Amino acid sequence: MVINFIHYMQNKVLITGGTGGIGKSLVQIFYEAGYHVAVNYAKNEESAKELENLVPVKTFKFDVTNLQECKKGLLSVEQYLGGNVDILINNAGITDDKMFHKQTEEGWLKVINTNLISVFNVTHCVIQNMRDNKFGRIINISSVNAHGQMGQTNYSASKAGIEGFTKSLALENARFGITVNAIAPGYINTEMVQKIPQETLDKIIDKIPVGRLGTPEEIAELALLLASKKTGFITGSVIDINGGLHM
Ligand code: NDP
Repeated sequence: MVINFIHYMQNKVLITGGTGGIGKSLVQIFYEAGYHVAVNYAKNEESAKELENLVPVKTFKFDVTNLQECKKGLLSVEQYLGGNVDILINNAGITDDKMFHKQTEEGWLKVINTNLISVFNVTHCVIQNMRDNKFGRIINISSVNAHGQMGQTNYSASKAGIEGFTKSLALENARFGITVNAIAPGYINTEMVQKIPQETLDKIIDKIPVGRLGTPEEIAELALLLASKKTGFITGSVIDINGGLHM
């Protein structure tokens, strides 16, 4: 009975950028696994409505680059969830690809703010409660391109930052029942990747040992595993899921 009560208490999930390509699969898989799911997005109300029609979850519009908006957003999220967030998936992310010499300050800051500063903002809103509850799962979405890619100085810097953040936060919170891990997807069949010119994409697929793009569902399955109470010994890890691209 007590165990069931704890299970009930520790199933509240917030997924940032949950209306996008990978986000939608995360939402679906967590909902189907019995979690109580709140979804964040920034602008696209149409995809938020579509998602709410597809899966019975609630979407919350707030800009993760803005700490004050996050604090306000989190109050609504926790009211909806009926308690503190137990599992946070920092998934919101964008690209603005350009060779560095052509990159603008605006393009640099937009990507760093959306992909990295956001991770501070949202995590800071939930970490103290996780420490008090002696349980938490934080899953940050990095990228294979954290290791560098042409035209992605801003994106690579943001994702490499996420990986360092993940390891430090994992150390600070390991004794509090909180695990902090990052998932580093390779090329996944989403709009973000469909923006790559077909000729370039064909060359990328040629280099993937598995011979295809990954699917959003494959990323979601890994996140579900990391969120489980049974995987409390996995922390501070960056898990590659890229079809063998780095072999
Ligand atoms: P999408 O572009 O499909 O979705 C991005 C999501 O982030 C949308 O829900 C968007 O909301 C939201 N978002 C963007 N800016 C903000 C903001 N300021 N505040 C709140 N939400 C915001 O991206 P993917 O699903 O393809 O990518 C998800 C994550 O996976 C990203 O972190 C990405 O870097 C990473 N990744 C993706 C790969 C891929 O192949 N697709 C490969 C490796 C990593 P809205 O639409 O309303 O703006």
